[in-house]
Amino acid sequence: MQLHFLGRGAAFNPLEGNNSAYIMENDRLLLIDCGETVFETLVKKGILEKAKTIDVLISHLHGDHCGSIGTLVLYAAERLRIPLNLVPPDEPAYREQIVALLRLLGCREGMYEIILDRELTGYASFDSVRYVRTGHAPGMLCHSFVFETPEGGVFYSADTNDVAPLQAFLREHPTPEHIYLEAAYPAASVHLSLDVLDDVVPSALRSVTSLMHIGSQLCMDQAIQRGFQIVSVD
Ligand SMILES: [Zn+2]
Ligand SMILES: [Zn+2]
Repeated sequence: MQLHFLGRGAAFNPLEGNNSAYIMENDRLLLIDCGETVFETLVKKGILEKAKTIDVLISHLHGDHCGSIGTLVLYAAERLRIPLNLVPPDEPAYREQIVALLRLLGCREGMYEIILDRELTGYASFDSVRYVRTGHAPGMLCHSFVFETPEGGVFYSADTNDVAPLQAFLREHPTPEHIYLEAAYPAASVHLSLDVLDDVVPSALRSVTSLMHIGSQLCMDQAIQRGFQIVSVD
Protein backbone atom coordinates (compact mmCIF):
# COMPACT_ATOMS: atom_id res chain seq x y z
CA MET A 1 0.00 0.00 0.00
CA GLN A 2 1.71 3.14 -1.20
CA LEU A 3 1.03 6.13 1.02
CA HIS A 4 2.13 9.49 -0.36
CA PHE A 5 2.73 12.17 2.24
CA LEU A 6 1.55 15.74 1.78
CA GLY A 7 3.27 16.86 4.96
CA ARG A 8 5.02 15.38 7.97
CA GLY A 9 5.07 18.16 10.54
CA ALA A 10 3.66 18.29 14.04
CA ALA A 11 1.10 20.99 14.81
CA PHE A 12 3.69 23.63 15.69
CA ASN A 13 6.02 22.67 12.85
CA PRO A 14 4.00 23.92 9.84
CA LEU A 15 7.11 24.40 7.72
CA GLU A 16 7.01 20.61 7.20
CA GLY A 17 3.28 20.81 6.31
CA ASN A 18 0.56 19.26 8.45
CA ASN A 19 0.86 15.51 8.74
CA SER A 20 -1.33 13.96 6.04
CA ALA A 21 -1.11 11.13 3.54
CA TYR A 22 -3.09 9.86 0.58
CA ILE A 23 -3.59 6.95 -1.76
CA MET A 24 -4.65 7.54 -5.35
CA GLU A 25 -6.02 4.52 -7.18
CA ASN A 26 -7.09 5.33 -10.69
CA ASP A 27 -9.40 8.28 -10.11
CA ARG A 28 -10.19 7.59 -6.46
CA LEU A 29 -8.48 9.57 -3.72
CA LEU A 30 -8.25 8.40 -0.11
CA LEU A 31 -7.06 11.18 2.16
CA ILE A 32 -5.86 10.61 5.72
CA ASP A 33 -6.41 13.82 7.70
CA CYS A 34 -6.98 17.29 6.30
CA GLY A 35 -5.16 19.84 8.43
CA GLU A 36 -4.76 23.56 7.87
CA THR A 37 -2.09 23.24 5.17
CA VAL A 38 -3.59 20.25 3.36
CA PHE A 39 -6.17 21.81 1.04
CA GLU A 40 -3.61 24.26 -0.32
CA THR A 41 -1.10 21.45 -0.85
CA LEU A 42 -3.67 19.30 -2.66
CA VAL A 43 -4.47 22.20 -5.00
CA LYS A 44 -0.82 23.11 -5.62
CA LYS A 45 -0.01 19.52 -6.53
CA GLY A 46 -3.03 19.19 -8.84
CA ILE A 47 -4.19 16.09 -6.99
CA LEU A 48 -7.86 17.00 -6.69
CA GLU A 49 -8.24 17.53 -10.43
CA LYS A 50 -7.30 13.87 -10.98
CA ALA A 51 -9.96 12.58 -8.57
CA LYS A 52 -13.50 11.53 -9.43
CA THR A 53 -14.26 10.43 -5.85
CA ILE A 54 -12.71 11.56 -2.57
CA ASP A 55 -12.78 9.50 0.63
CA VAL A 56 -11.59 11.21 3.81
CA LEU A 57 -10.50 9.73 7.13
CA ILE A 58 -10.14 12.18 10.04
CA SER A 59 -8.22 10.91 13.06
CA HIS A 60 -9.29 13.68 15.46
CA LEU A 61 -10.31 17.30 15.51
CA HIS A 62 -7.10 19.18 16.25
CA GLY A 63 -6.65 21.83 13.57
CA ASP A 64 -3.53 20.24 12.10
CA HIS A 65 -5.70 17.18 11.27
CA CYS A 66 -9.00 18.74 10.19
CA GLY A 67 -8.37 22.47 9.71
CA SER A 68 -9.12 22.59 5.98
CA ILE A 69 -11.80 19.88 5.77
CA GLY A 70 -14.56 22.46 5.36
CA THR A 71 -12.89 24.05 2.36
CA LEU A 72 -12.22 20.64 0.81
CA VAL A 73 -15.88 19.62 1.16
CA LEU A 74 -17.07 22.90 -0.38
CA TYR A 75 -14.55 22.66 -3.21
CA ALA A 76 -15.57 19.08 -4.06
CA ALA A 77 -19.28 19.95 -3.97
CA GLU A 78 -19.30 23.35 -5.65
CA ARG A 79 -16.22 23.52 -7.88
CA LEU A 80 -15.38 19.95 -8.85
CA ARG A 81 -18.91 18.58 -8.41
CA ILE A 82 -17.60 15.18 -7.41
CA PRO A 83 -18.71 13.01 -4.47
CA LEU A 84 -16.83 13.31 -1.21
CA ASN A 85 -17.29 10.56 1.35
CA LEU A 86 -16.53 11.35 4.94
CA VAL A 87 -15.48 8.03 6.47
CA PRO A 88 -15.89 7.98 10.27
CA PRO A 89 -15.97 4.99 12.62
CA ASP A 90 -19.22 3.55 13.95
CA GLU A 91 -18.95 5.88 16.94
CA PRO A 92 -21.94 8.27 17.08
CA ALA A 93 -20.35 10.82 19.45
CA TYR A 94 -17.38 11.32 17.13
CA ARG A 95 -19.52 11.36 14.01
CA GLU A 96 -21.72 14.05 15.54
CA GLN A 97 -18.67 16.17 16.34
CA ILE A 98 -17.43 16.04 12.73
CA VAL A 99 -20.87 16.79 11.30
CA ALA A 100 -21.28 19.71 13.73
CA LEU A 101 -17.89 21.08 12.73
CA LEU A 102 -18.76 20.85 9.04
CA ARG A 103 -22.10 22.54 9.66
CA LEU A 104 -20.34 25.46 11.38
CA LEU A 105 -18.00 25.65 8.39
CA GLY A 106 -20.94 26.02 6.02
CA CYS A 107 -21.06 22.45 4.73
CA ARG A 108 -24.67 21.40 4.52
CA GLU A 109 -25.95 17.84 4.47
CA GLY A 110 -25.97 16.69 0.89
CA MET A 111 -22.63 18.29 0.13
CA TYR A 112 -20.96 15.10 1.33
CA GLU A 113 -21.89 11.53 2.16
CA ILE A 114 -21.06 9.59 5.29
CA ILE A 115 -19.94 6.01 4.97
CA LEU A 116 -18.57 4.04 7.91
CA ASP A 117 -15.03 2.73 7.91
CA ARG A 118 -16.21 -0.87 7.59
CA GLU A 119 -18.22 0.10 4.51
CA LEU A 120 -15.21 1.51 2.65
CA THR A 121 -14.35 -1.02 -0.03
CA GLY A 122 -13.06 -1.14 -3.56
CA TYR A 123 -9.40 -0.28 -3.09
CA ALA A 124 -6.84 -2.74 -4.46
CA SER A 125 -4.07 -1.81 -2.04
CA PHE A 126 -6.03 -2.60 1.13
CA ASP A 127 -8.91 -4.89 2.01
CA SER A 128 -10.28 -2.82 4.88
CA VAL A 129 -9.52 0.07 7.19
CA ARG A 130 -10.74 0.61 10.73
CA TYR A 131 -10.46 3.34 13.30
CA VAL A 132 -8.94 2.33 16.62
CA ARG A 133 -9.62 4.58 19.63
CA THR A 134 -6.48 5.93 21.21
CA GLY A 135 -5.39 8.46 23.80
CA HIS A 136 -3.94 11.84 22.90
CA ALA A 137 -5.26 15.08 24.39
CA PRO A 138 -7.60 15.30 27.39
CA GLY A 139 -11.27 15.34 26.41
CA MET A 140 -10.66 14.58 22.73
CA LEU A 141 -11.84 11.56 20.77
CA CYS A 142 -8.73 10.38 18.89
CA HIS A 143 -8.02 7.47 16.62
CA SER A 144 -5.31 5.49 14.93
CA PHE A 145 -5.96 3.48 11.76
CA VAL A 146 -5.39 -0.17 10.93
CA PHE A 147 -5.39 -1.19 7.28
CA GLU A 148 -5.62 -4.86 6.44
CA THR A 149 -3.52 -5.29 3.33
CA PRO A 150 -2.47 -8.25 1.19
CA GLU A 151 1.11 -7.60 2.35
CA GLY A 152 0.50 -7.96 6.10
CA GLY A 153 -1.25 -4.87 7.42
CA VAL A 154 -0.46 -1.20 7.91
CA PHE A 155 -0.67 0.75 11.18
CA TYR A 156 -1.01 4.54 11.09
CA SER A 157 -0.89 6.08 14.54
CA ALA A 158 -1.92 9.63 13.73
CA ASP A 159 -1.58 11.60 16.99
CA THR A 160 -1.39 9.49 20.12
CA ASN A 161 0.21 9.11 23.52
CA ASP A 162 -1.08 5.55 23.92
CA VAL A 163 1.13 2.69 22.81
CA ALA A 164 -1.49 -0.03 23.42
CA PRO A 165 -3.07 0.08 19.91
CA LEU A 166 0.38 -0.36 18.36
CA GLN A 167 1.13 -3.29 20.66
CA ALA A 168 -2.21 -4.91 19.74
CA PHE A 169 -1.46 -4.40 16.05
CA LEU A 170 1.97 -6.02 16.43
CA ARG A 171 0.44 -9.05 18.14
CA GLU A 172 -2.06 -9.46 15.31
CA HIS A 173 0.39 -8.60 12.51
CA PRO A 174 3.79 -10.14 13.28
CA THR A 175 5.11 -9.31 9.80
CA PRO A 176 3.43 -6.00 8.96
CA GLU A 177 3.71 -4.31 5.63
CA HIS A 178 4.42 -0.92 7.21
CA ILE A 179 4.04 1.06 10.43
CA TYR A 180 3.63 4.84 10.46
CA LEU A 181 4.18 6.41 13.86
CA GLU A 182 4.25 9.84 15.31
CA ALA A 183 7.06 10.39 17.76
CA ALA A 184 8.27 13.12 20.05
CA TYR A 185 11.77 13.80 21.28
CA PRO A 186 12.20 15.00 23.95
CA ALA A 187 9.05 13.38 25.38
CA ALA A 188 5.75 15.30 25.37
CA SER A 189 2.64 14.34 27.30
CA VAL A 190 0.27 14.16 24.32
CA HIS A 191 2.68 12.25 22.07
CA LEU A 192 4.55 8.97 22.05
CA SER A 193 8.14 9.48 23.02
CA LEU A 194 10.91 8.03 20.93
CA ASP A 195 12.14 6.20 24.02
CA VAL A 196 8.82 4.33 24.30
CA LEU A 197 8.95 3.37 20.62
CA ASP A 198 12.49 2.16 21.17
CA ASP A 199 11.12 -0.32 23.71
CA VAL A 200 8.06 -1.41 21.74
CA VAL A 201 9.19 -1.67 18.10
CA PRO A 202 11.56 -4.62 17.59
CA SER A 203 14.79 -3.86 15.73
CA ALA A 204 13.76 -6.27 12.97
CA LEU A 205 10.73 -4.11 12.15
CA ARG A 206 12.46 -0.73 12.03
CA SER A 207 13.14 -0.98 8.32
CA VAL A 208 9.34 -0.93 7.84
CA THR A 209 8.63 1.63 10.56
CA SER A 210 8.50 5.25 9.42
CA LEU A 211 8.14 8.17 11.74
CA MET A 212 5.96 11.13 10.88
CA HIS A 213 4.32 14.13 12.62
CA ILE A 214 7.83 15.33 13.37
CA GLY A 215 8.39 18.20 15.78
CA SER A 216 12.04 18.99 15.16
CA GLN A 217 15.25 18.11 13.36
CA LEU A 218 16.56 16.76 16.67
CA CYS A 219 13.71 14.23 16.74
CA MET A 220 14.51 13.12 13.18
CA ASP A 221 18.22 12.75 13.95
CA GLN A 222 17.49 10.68 17.05
CA ALA A 223 15.03 8.48 15.16
CA ILE A 224 17.50 7.76 12.37
CA GLN A 225 20.20 6.90 14.92
CA ARG A 226 17.85 4.30 16.37
CA GLY A 227 17.18 2.70 13.00
CA PHE A 228 13.74 4.15 12.24
CA GLN A 229 12.80 5.51 8.83
CA ILE A 230 11.35 8.98 8.26
CA VAL A 231 8.52 9.49 5.79
CA SER A 232 9.40 11.62 2.80
CA VAL A 233 7.04 14.18 1.36
CA ASP A 234 6.37 13.76 -2.37
ZN1 LIG B 1 -1.14 16.66 15.17
ZN1 LIG C 1 -3.55 16.19 17.82
